[in-house]
Parts: sequence; structure tokens; C-alpha cells
Amino acid sequence: MTAVAIDGPAGAGKSTAARAAAKRLGFVYVDTGALYRAVGCHMRALGIPAGDARQVEKALEGLEVSLEFSEGGQHVLLNGRDVTGELRTPEASLAASQFSALPCVRSFLFGLQQQLAERHSVVMDGRDIGTVVLPKAQVKVFLTASPEERARRRFEEMRQKGENAEYQQVLEELQQRDYQDAHRAVAPLKPAEDAVLLDTTGLSLQEVVERLVALVNEKLK
Ligand code: C5P
Repeated sequence: MTAVAIDGPAGAGKSTAARAAAKRLGFVYVDTGALYRAVGCHMRALGIPAGDARQVEKALEGLEVSLEFSEGGQHVLLNGRDVTGELRTPEASLAASQFSALPCVRSFLFGLQQQLAERHSVVMDGRDIGTVVLPKAQVKVFLTASPEERARRRFEEMRQKGENAEYQQVLEELQQRDYQDAHRAVAPLKPAEDAVLLDTTGLSLQEVVERLVALVNEKLK
């Protein structure tokens, strides 16, 4: 099995590029952010505050999270219910960032991510894939772009979906999430020592995908 780990801050274009690269390579694309989003939304729906680790831990005991893959992409199931359609809201982003700082949430999702990489060749994206989840991944990439560029892309994406968004607010939420993700005690967002840094500012999606595929082919030669 081959593992490609792609980490980086919110809005760096990880998921779109990783999905396209996986398709080109014939690998399974795993979006680990969706797992944290699903758990975050679940805790919010239960009314559990992110500050109450004990209650979160208790709620995790009866929870089953799984992923299914189809032509249309990855689906997240919580206790068998497909919640994929509920995960891309600003509230879900914030909940993911808050609850993902808890060690019990991270260890809860750790095994599932590792199992997937044992069973399939994967392109897996997240924040700690190269550093913690798949430290032996054959290829590690840290994707970045300036905060303004990342906010602009997110803003455009939201506008195209017909969502009401303000650029300034998108930028502030993104910076808040970056800060939380980079400053948490467990598995903070940072490049693995052996990761290739790829700044996507000014690059098209096509160019990013080409570079990812080239890096993998180079490694596997
Ligand atoms: O990648 P995405 O924006 O969907 O991730 C949502 C949130 O989930 C991130 O801001 C981060 O807090 C958390 N996350 C994480 N580790 C991962 C993937 C996502 O902590 N591997």
C-alpha cells in the first residue's frame, strides 16, 4: 500500500487537489476533516460544550463513525446515518476545530484513519496526517497559501453555492481556525520534518494536482 499524506491550513485547496490526485493515481481519497466535522456536529447536537472533556468522552462511547466510498466521493456515517450533507457549514467548521483539540476525540478517530491506510493506497488529507496518523507515509506534502488567498477561495466557493458570505468574516474565521489548530497541545498543525512544502498561492488547481502526482511518481519510481 502507498500512503500520501497531505496536511495544511484551512482553505489551502487540500481537499480538491487531493481528491483529483487520488483519482489520477487510482488511490482512495480520505478527507479526515469530515470525520472531525461529524464528531463536532454530533457533540453540538447533544448540547455538549467543547470544554467538557468528560461528557465528550462519554458521548464517544456509544458512537460509531464509518466511511463509505462511492463514485460520488466519501460519505460519513454516524451510527449508520449518512451525515455528509451537514458537514460543510461554518458552524461545522468551528465545531470541528473546537472538539478536535480534545485528545479523546483524536484517539477516537485515530484507528479508523490508520485502518483505511492499511487496507487501501490512500491520499489522506488533514492537519496531522504526516506527523501523527501516517508518520511512515511514502509521500508527505504540506500545502499552504496566504491567508488572503485562502479566504478568497473559500469566499468564492461559498458564493458559487449561493451562500451568504462576507469576505472579511470568512478571513477572520479562517484565521481563528488556523490559530486554534496550530496552537493546540495535541497533534497541532505543522509540517512533518520530511514533508515537501507546496505554496499554492497563484497556482491553478491543475498545477497543484500535477505537482502532487509528479511527487508520488518520483517516490515510487
Ligand atoms: O479539513 P477541514 O477544514 O474539513 O477540517 C476541519 C477541522 O477539523 C480543522 O479545522 C481541524 O480543527 C480539524 N482537523 C484536525 N485534524 C485533521 C483534520 C481536521 O484536527 N486531520
